[in-house]
Amino acid sequence: MADRPCIALIAHDQKKDEMAAFARQHERALSQFRIVATGTTGGRVLEAAPSLDVTRLKSGPLGGDQQIGAMIATGEVSMLIFFTDPLTPLPHDVDVKALTRLATVYDIPMALNRATAEKLIDFQ
Ligand code: PGA
Repeated sequence: MADRPCIALIAHDQKKDEMAAFARQHERALSQFRIVATGTTGGRVLEAAPSLDVTRLKSGPLGGDQQIGAMIATGEVSMLIFFTDPLTPLPHDVDVKALTRLATVYDIPMALNRATAEKLIDFQ
């Protein structure tokens, strides 16, 4: 349904298990949203919570983060849950920075870890 708000889900590799567990735990709350996700993350979310309406974009390192950034700029994405890995160097670090920058520019709710994501979901 196009009238539901759209949330973006992304998790770096070391955080994908956590994202899958988060999606499973909050499947009902997340079903209130259309979901866009970077490619691999979207696959893991769908495995964990098959009832969710997930559109998979490109993988993050291949442009998925930038696709989500563009969707924030156009107003299509209104919330971002991004489980980042602060302990591993990433080839697409500049894309990660650009995405979190746009989420700040457009002042959308953004959770960069599970603790904050739990709070955001609780408020919905
Ligand atoms: P992925 O992308 O879900 O396709 O792994 C996430 C990322 O690393 O930005």
